[in-house]
Amino acid sequence: MCGKCSPYLDFAAAYCAGRGLRLTAPRAQVLGIVVEAGKPITAYEALAVLGQQVKNPKPPTVYRALDFLQQAGLVHRIESLNAYVACHGGHDHHSSQFLICDDCGTVQEVESGPLDKAIGDTTEKMGFVSGHWSAEIHGSCKKCQG
Ligand SMILES: [Zn+2]
Ligand SMILES: [Zn+2]
Repeated sequence: MCGKCSPYLDFAAAYCAGRGLRLTAPRAQVLGIVVEAGKPITAYEALAVLGQQVKNPKPPTVYRALDFLQQAGLVHRIESLNAYVACHGGHDHHSSQFLICDDCGTVQEVESGPLDKAIGDTTEKMGFVSGHWSAEIHGSCKKCQG
């Protein structure tokens, strides 16, 4: 466990407890792996890392843990990369916007109030009840443009 993920895991444990969610040991372990990765990580890569920590982890353990973490709002799935990132927002948000750098692979989670409102207005006009939505914006980050 690194210095970066232990405060996050402490927070996640309290967050889950407050919502009646069970952050079991395998779930916490998988969350630690996603946080530590620092960039999008696939379920397959997470399984490989878990394999260095425990003997012969079962793939469904990782998939189920990622499902749970995603529903809890602690990790997000980046559809276009088929990978997961730790949430660094408020966890309760129904929309996610990601800035994905195609050069270095980093992903920044951002919150756009105006975009959120525009989508909300549009869905409301259509009589559509929206659940969760995300925007994945590919491009080049500030660092990579230098
Ligand atoms: Zn988030
Ligand atoms: Zn970049």
